[in-house]
Amino acid sequence: MQTRLVLTLIVFLVNLAQLNAQVTAIICKQIIDGKTNAPLKATVILVEGDRIKAIGQRDIIPNGAQSVDLSSYTVMPGFIDLHCHPLGDADDDYQTYHLKNSSAAKALQGLKNVQGMLMAGWTAIRVPGDLDVGYAHFDLRNAINKGMFDGPRIFGAGHWISVTGGGGDINFFSYEQKGVIVDGLVVDGPEEMRKAVRNEIKYGSDWIKLLVSGAFMTAGDNPQNVHFSKEELAVAIDEATRRDVPVMAHAHSGEAIKMSVRAGAKTIEHGSFLDDEGIKLMAEKGTYLVPTLTIGKWFLEFNEDSEALKKAIELTKKHRVGIEAQLTKAIKAGVKVVVGTDLTGADPEYCANEFSELVRVGMTPMQAIQAGTGLAAEALGKNKEFGTLESGKLADIVAVKGDPLSDINLLKKVDFVMIGGKIVKNDKK
Ligand SMILES: [Zn+2]
Repeated sequence: MQTRLVLTLIVFLVNLAQLNAQVTAIICKQIIDGKTNAPLKATVILVEGDRIKAIGQRDIIPNGAQSVDLSSYTVMPGFIDLHCHPLGDADDDYQTYHLKNSSAAKALQGLKNVQGMLMAGWTAIRVPGDLDVGYAHFDLRNAINKGMFDGPRIFGAGHWISVTGGGGDINFFSYEQKGVIVDGLVVDGPEEMRKAVRNEIKYGSDWIKLLVSGAFMTAGDNPQNVHFSKEELAVAIDEATRRDVPVMAHAHSGEAIKMSVRAGAKTIEHGSFLDDEGIKLMAEKGTYLVPTLTIGKWFLEFNEDSEALKKAIELTKKHRVGIEAQLTKAIKAGVKVVVGTDLTGADPEYCANEFSELVRVGMTPMQAIQAGTGLAAEALGKNKEFGTLESGKLADIVAVKGDPLSDINLLKKVDFVMIGGKIVKNDKK
């Protein structure tokens, strides 16, 4: 008799536990899972806690599930921007921004920017260093991870590491002003590089960012030059690799790209002057390319008269056609091209231009969506956790009305956002 009582109690407790685990059923028109090359046959996603529990048809919906009707919507994994600088203010002069604003001010600006991005569908971002002497974007990351604020998952490097006179240095002050604090880490020689990499990891970087070539946006350096020596590059990648930290290489010049790929960089940022040999090398080694086309579009659309961006605008105008032709070749050759905007996130809807830009240079809409979801998560090394819609993965889910496979620009109008099972936006029309 007593055994029976105990059994009844156990059954009751199990039922109670199941009742408590609220299941949400998202009912969709179409599911793009981020890795399959066609929409799924399924129309229902079950979410329990922070994870996807199952994907199937309506018959999988359990009794008592809360349902979200997105039956005129295409549902996708949350978008991933592998290259953005959310601490910035798009209206300020980026070259002096870090001198004029405290880390606290930038963290507040960053919070606004990343929350805007989340509302536009970006559930994870990688910051390749930001306009800060400190590590404000990691404070932001930590606050979000603690649950203090809703925001995207944040990964990245504390700073860009550069040579003296490179893109992380300030090259427009006189010689007498050489004590001016720079926003990058300036290193010369293998031992300074080693120290810089170790410090970056110590203070929370899960990526190392190297400015292997000159940059488009900084004064006084040339993006077609290689800045780091082979030795410096080898030391950086060796140090990072031993700590399981991947390296992203900002590399415009063809030679800088090839040097970085050969040395073992995991991603190439910008890759503007990628040559045929570089394409072959990247395809063979499986190196990811983050071409950041949106920043070029933004220069040309909004900043024609900007003195601070004069160099970047001129270079973009001069080289855009050639850059895009090589990118088209790279896509055809099977280089893993992924989404990164290089924006601050201040105009979050604008970030989705990266998808339409990638389609313009030769991707199918499906490839572009994968480049900003499943493939981007793979580049991040987080594809076991998120980036695709599969049971067991974190429930980072977005939806747009209609079919983005026939109009990629629909990705600029995300109406529904869920991150880790929590609905943070539902503007269903
Ligand atoms: Zn950048």
